[in-house]
Amino acid sequence: MTNRIDRKASSQDELICRLAEEAADLLQWLAQFGAGQGGGVTRLLYTSAWQQAQAALAEKLLSIGLTPYFDDAGNLFGRLAGMYEGVIVTGSHVDTVTHGGRYDGAYGIVAGVLALAYLKEKFGPPLRSIEVVSFAEEEGSRFPLTFWGSGNIIGRYKTQEPPHLQDAEGITLAEAMHAAGFGQGKALDDRQPYSPSSWSAFIELHIEQGSVLEREGRQIGIVQGIVGQRRFTFEVKGEANHAGTTPMSYRKDALCGASEMILAIRDAAVAYGDPMVATVGRLEANPGVSNVVAGSATFTLDVRHPQVEALDEFCSALMEQLKLIAGKSGLSISGSPWMDGAPAMMSAELTDAARQICCSRGFSSRDMYSGAGHDAQLLAPVCPTAMLFVPSRGGISHSPEEYTKPEELAAGIVVLIDLLYLLAYKGETK
Ligand SMILES: [Zn+2]
Repeated sequence: MTNRIDRKASSQDELICRLAEEAADLLQWLAQFGAGQGGGVTRLLYTSAWQQAQAALAEKLLSIGLTPYFDDAGNLFGRLAGMYEGVIVTGSHVDTVTHGGRYDGAYGIVAGVLALAYLKEKFGPPLRSIEVVSFAEEEGSRFPLTFWGSGNIIGRYKTQEPPHLQDAEGITLAEAMHAAGFGQGKALDDRQPYSPSSWSAFIELHIEQGSVLEREGRQIGIVQGIVGQRRFTFEVKGEANHAGTTPMSYRKDALCGASEMILAIRDAAVAYGDPMVATVGRLEANPGVSNVVAGSATFTLDVRHPQVEALDEFCSALMEQLKLIAGKSGLSISGSPWMDGAPAMMSAELTDAARQICCSRGFSSRDMYSGAGHDAQLLAPVCPTAMLFVPSRGGISHSPEEYTKPEELAAGIVVLIDLLYLLAYKGETK
């Protein structure tokens, strides 16, 4: 096996070729667990498809000479033991949305498996341990909470005190966890996961889930940070009245007011400039009848930006503007954020290293922010964290249509290999 690798990986093209084939094969293999119609994959937390996938991954880790073990939440680790202290971790989540694709989450795990297999075979034991992690849950598709996997690792959640949540069939999180054999209050064997505060680095590879890399023809997205998100629900109040007998000048039309506000929100985000994004995804008029002037209207607002200061500035200026629009039409507006997720910045040291690797490998890359949430955002405050994107065809994700070309998958894995080599075999970066 080693000889074969030495021969075949003698050039970068051969390495890409080999990894492209292996990544495509491994993703196809993993997609059989929870496979549905039309190539869709459904692997919800603690279901049998999920259990089969984690058990099969554990066997896969063992087969390439890693030491697999589960923590109490069902996060799966595969350890390549190093000679000295310290651990570098890479991976992503094994769960999917309902009828999702075969790349979201899975790619980060597969990339980790292939990178560790390659490093082990080519260079032997590292100075510092390297682990691949298959996080139990990220999507929030079965229970209404996200990041159950990485959240348990960083101490946001505890398996002994699971939130009282039910799935669509009335099964609680605790029941599902126990039925899958987890939540026993201890790791399933003698091995204990390293505390993330002792992780020297966490690196997550993921599909972009947007179309920037594809449009620009670039191979690697180097994530600077994951945006913060604020979500609001606003209620605009006016006066419901007769559509025939109320002259235009006498109206307090809440729907017209809300419409003006929605366009003002769009214009404000455009004027603020990238990477600010603001979205009104839902609008409801009341009473919602064709011959009645709307007495009230409610709409949602989702605002995202990688800097807290920018979110503060944008949201408070916007609130003033919405009140002005309401005031001039005799309307009132109320609303406040019901979700406030902090942005997470990636490690400058690690992203610099990734940039240099792309440069020396001849991969086209760009710095970018992630507009979607990822496990990396939970680890970023705890340990130096990096995230790399590969292109998503058409920007499509959470769909059986998810697709990334095998050679694009491979380029990401090559960067991961180089980064892990630098961190675990060279020990130049803490
Ligand atoms: Zn994901």
